[in-house]
Amino acid sequence: MAQEAQVTVAPDAKLVIRNIGLLLSGDLQRPILDADTVVATGGRITAIGRAKDVDQEGATTVIDARGSALAPGLIDSHVHPVAGDWTPRQSQLNWIDSTLHGGVTTMISAGEVHTPGRPRDVVGLKAMAIYAQRCFSAFRPGGMKILAGAPVIEPDMQESDFRELAEAGVRLLGEVGLGGVKDGPTAKRMVGWARKYGIQSTIHTGGPSIPGSGLIDAAVVLEADTDVVGHINGGHTALPDREIRCICEGCGRGLELVHNGNERAALYTLRLAREMGQLDRVILGTDGPAGSGVQPLGILRMISMLSALGDLPAEEAFCLGTGNTARMRALDCGLVEEGRAADFVLLDRAQHSAGRDLLECIRLGDLPGIGMVVIDGLPRIARSRNTPPADKVPEIVTP
Ligand SMILES: [Zn+2]
Repeated sequence: MAQEAQVTVAPDAKLVIRNIGLLLSGDLQRPILDADTVVATGGRITAIGRAKDVDQEGATTVIDARGSALAPGLIDSHVHPVAGDWTPRQSQLNWIDSTLHGGVTTMISAGEVHTPGRPRDVVGLKAMAIYAQRCFSAFRPGGMKILAGAPVIEPDMQESDFRELAEAGVRLLGEVGLGGVKDGPTAKRMVGWARKYGIQSTIHTGGPSIPGSGLIDAAVVLEADTDVVGHINGGHTALPDREIRCICEGCGRGLELVHNGNERAALYTLRLAREMGQLDRVILGTDGPAGSGVQPLGILRMISMLSALGDLPAEEAFCLGTGNTARMRALDCGLVEEGRAADFVLLDRAQHSAGRDLLECIRLGDLPGIGMVVIDGLPRIARSRNTPPADKVPEIVTP
C-alpha cells in the first residue's frame, strides 16, 4: 500500500477481525485472551470476544484472520529519526516504512541526534525539537505513529526553556548524555524541570556510542532519575553487571533493552527483572538507525531472542514490546483492550519453522511471519515484505 496511506479513519468506520487463532493482549497479567473476534469503531477497539457474542453488524471492513494470531502493534521505544523517511546514519531511505513491515506501529524518538549539523545552542536545539515534533506528527509513512521532537539537554538550559518546550507541544527529552550534560547533578535538575512540565525523559546508559557521546555509569543514571533507563544493555557498550544490578535495584524506572546493545547484558537485565518480580519495567527498542544499521525486524528479533535465550514465554515477550511500553509511555495503544487504538499486527509461525505454532516458533528462536498490519482500524500492509512468509495469512473479505 502506498506511502501516502490514509491517516485518519471515518468516525463510523467499523472493522471486524474474525477467526483469530490466538489473541495476544500485550498485558503481562493476562497475555492470552480467550477470544477470536475484535471489533473497532472509528479506529478504537469497541469489542473483544467470541464471534457469537460480539456485534458484527454494519462492518465496513472485515478481516478474516484465517487462524493467524493477533497482537497489539509493536512499539519501538528508542529510535533516532532525522527528517522524513530518510536516515543519514547509513544513507538509507524508507527505513520507517520498512519498520512497519516488521510489525511496529508506534516509534518513540530518543533524540533527532543524527541530524547533520545539529544545533547545540539553546535557541537552536529548541527550534529543532519543535520542528521535529511538528514534522513527524504530520508525516506518517504507511500510518506509522512517530513520536518525535526530543531535544538533548545542554548545560546552559534554564527552567523556562522546558516550560517553553512543553507549551510548544514537546513531550520527550532525547537521551541525556548525548549533549553537553553528562554529570548527575545537572541532569537531575533538568530532568526534574522536564517532569514538572510533562516531558518524559530517557538517558544514554553505558559507554560512548559515537564520537561526541560519553560514558554514563550507574551513579549518573540513578542521580539523573530519568523516566526510562535508555538502553540499560548499552548502546553499544554495556556497563558491568554489578552496575546494571545497581540500577535495577536502585530505582523503579523503565528498563529499556535495545537491539543495538549488548545481548548478554540484555539477558542479564531480563533475569534480574524477573527475579525482582518487576518484568513490567522491561520495554524494548532498537536504537536504530545507528552504527549497526537499520533493523526493520529489530523488535521482533528482541522478542524472539529474549524468549529463546531468556526462557521467557513468547506471549510474555510480546508484552515487553507492546503493553509495558504503552503504560510506561502513557500511550493509547499497545494493549488489546476496549477504548485503545486499533493498532494490530497479525502474524503466524514462519513457514517451515521447527515450531508447530507461533509461540513455539518464537520460543525456538525463529522470527514469526507477518500477514497484515492494522493502524487506527485501517489495514496498512498485507503480507510483510521483510519477515519470512507466515504459514497462515489473513485476508480482507467483503463485509
Ligand atoms: Zn544512546
